[in-house]
Amino acid sequence: MNEINRRGLLGSAALGAGGLMALASTAQAASPGEGGIARNAEALPPGDKVVHREASEVDEMPNFKYSLDGSTPKITSGGWAKEATAHQFPISKGIAGVHMFLDPGASRELHWHAIAAEWAYVLEGQCQTFVIDPSGQREINNFGPGDLWYFPKGHGHAIQTIGDKPCHFILSFDNGAFSEHGTFSLTDWVSLTPKEMLAANFGVPADVFPKGETYIMAGPVLSAADAKDAPLPPAQSHKFSLDGMKAHETEGGSLRLATAQEFPISPGMSGGVMTIKAGAIREMHWHPNANEWHYYLRGTAQVGLFGSGGRGKVAEFKPGDVAYLPIGYGHAIRNVGKDDLEFVVTFDNGVYQEISLTEIMAASPRYLLSNNFGVPASTFARFSDKSGFIRMPT
Ligand code: MN
Ligand code: MN
Repeated sequence: MNEINRRGLLGSAALGAGGLMALASTAQAASPGEGGIARNAEALPPGDKVVHREASEVDEMPNFKYSLDGSTPKITSGGWAKEATAHQFPISKGIAGVHMFLDPGASRELHWHAIAAEWAYVLEGQCQTFVIDPSGQREINNFGPGDLWYFPKGHGHAIQTIGDKPCHFILSFDNGAFSEHGTFSLTDWVSLTPKEMLAANFGVPADVFPKGETYIMAGPVLSAADAKDAPLPPAQSHKFSLDGMKAHETEGGSLRLATAQEFPISPGMSGGVMTIKAGAIREMHWHPNANEWHYYLRGTAQVGLFGSGGRGKVAEFKPGDVAYLPIGYGHAIRNVGKDDLEFVVTFDNGVYQEISLTEIMAASPRYLLSNNFGVPASTFARFSDKSGFIRMPT
């Protein structure tokens, strides 16, 4: 603190009640006014007529793109996992993502997550999951491409490849601080527990247990004939088939999204796959209740993100890239390639909500828009009168 500031602070602190009275009477003298709070305020200093932001005054917009498939994997005997958490990808505070690959015969050992629920989309291959909930109820499900699973936070689960082809999937977690490399694994726990404690707990000799975390363990192939499932009724099931649901079809593309309505075990997340045709745009909008996360499967996307306060950023996405669009931030997605654009999309809320800019423009009084943009009201007659969701340019 410099000398002048310190003196200023000490001076006003020392004024006390008498000083406040003195200030009030000064204000009154400057602006006599007639009743009403704020009538006695001094005139505002002259300000800029129009808000104009110098680039140097605007905080930098955070990077919202990360190459998940380009990141360093954690590799063990049966496969690998790559992750995008808030550690590697600082903007992604609400959602973390993982690409996991299991060889034939491999299993991701039994584990749980202390701080996040797990949502999954199977890309290729077949696998079986085992999950146990706090009531002791278990479920065994078999999965193929296009299937989803959801494991609520803390529920114990394991994943094993079925058949002689590898299986890989995209995972999305409702907490950006979650790390796949810090899960609560069964072998890790057992290997850190004193042998006498294990023997007392299980009633078996302690030397039956392995040493250290196995994570993704290689093993003999589990045949489709041996991989018997034991599913729960749909209302309780941890499995959902995206391919079995009706898509939201629009002229420029489609969305299959499983919210908690379709997939009741997932109140904390919604997720699915969006397809955008060449040249089409997913219209400008925002989500009042959720962060949004993408993993790109096919094609080339241009995503524009608006972050308030003079901040905006545009980035291009290719297969293997991840996008993170924070809650409330405006965004739009264009297919700028020659082929269909396809990506996995998740939200950290089981209820889907959006507000579309097209609808705002159509619903707002024309005089309000005319005033806001400083153009004649007739300008807005040319605007679309309803949201196309994914629109084909005319
Ligand atoms: Mn898990
Ligand atoms: Mn969105």
